[in-house]
Amino acid sequence: MLLVKNISFSYSKTPILKDLDFRIEKGKNLAVIGESGSGKSTLLRVIYGEYDLNNGQVFWKNTEILGPKYNLVIGYDFMKYVTQEFDLMPFITVEENIGKHLSRFFPEEKQKRTDELIKVVELEAFAKTKVKNLSGGQKQRVALARALAKQPEILLLDEPFSHIDNFKKQSLRRSVFKYLKDNKITCLVATHDKNDVLGFSDEMIVIHENKIIAKDTPQNLYKNPKLPLIASFFGEFNVIEPFGIVYAHQLKIVDNSNLKAVVKQSYFNGNSWLIEADFNSKSIFIKHHSQLTKEKSINLVIDN
Ligand code: ADP
Ligand code: MG
Repeated sequence: MLLVKNISFSYSKTPILKDLDFRIEKGKNLAVIGESGSGKSTLLRVIYGEYDLNNGQVFWKNTEILGPKYNLVIGYDFMKYVTQEFDLMPFITVEENIGKHLSRFFPEEKQKRTDELIKVVELEAFAKTKVKNLSGGQKQRVALARALAKQPEILLLDEPFSHIDNFKKQSLRRSVFKYLKDNKITCLVATHDKNDVLGFSDEMIVIHENKIIAKDTPQNLYKNPKLPLIASFFGEFNVIEPFGIVYAHQLKIVDNSNLKAVVKQSYFNGNSWLIEADFNSKSIFIKHHSQLTKEKSINLVIDN
């Protein structure tokens, strides 16, 4: 279990993290979400032991994670951290990077393990390619595989799929998160992409203004977002008094109702359209199956 006990941290005078307190049970996936600059990467770095805390403690099982004041070498064998920058060795191949820290005294096992991980990150075609010749997204996948090579007990992932294009993203997410679950690897993933969370994370925490403002399952936070910031993570929404937060897909167009609006614009969204409409001189957004003409009067109901 990872135990984060009341930690506070600042790089200089400005506080970045204030009294963060949470735990992750073994094998669970916890997502950390928050706006850019909210301190997600900082949180991962202090958990990794890259900085000394101002206050609080971090434990993995019975081991206290200590910062550079106490450790000559940063990091612990049981924990791996995949940064947003990935730092790989550019002049050696993908498989050499992944196998770099595996023992060369067991060449068959080393090859088997490397091949297995190359498959997890779907880089079979690039095994013998030098890393310097890869795209950003391919490098990110090598960094992931390298972090898994020595079977860490806990993995910290910082926006792990941010450089990967949409053609690959979904299948890669499934493959990596399934591998972590199958191997009971505890995972903390910092992200601003709901697709990294829905369907994969057991719980999520939301960081805002240096603090944890919500912690729950993705399902519960989605159903009951409480704050506009949380709703905005999941999708298009409106604040309609006295009902509160209403997602665009919860608004239905009907023949008659007392919520009346006028269509301003329709945006194509793939399997649906997003309709922008004027409602009491304010824009609201409605998910609808077809395009609507400008100036059309519509009646709405809220469908939970
Ligand atoms: P996120 O990952 O959520 O985008 P970060 O943890 O990277 O947020 O940054 C949180 C805050 O800390 C930002 O205001 C950022 O400018 C600041 N910050 C990040 N890294 C450093 C650093 N090495 N030194 C000083 N300030 C930093
Ligand atoms: Mg970050």
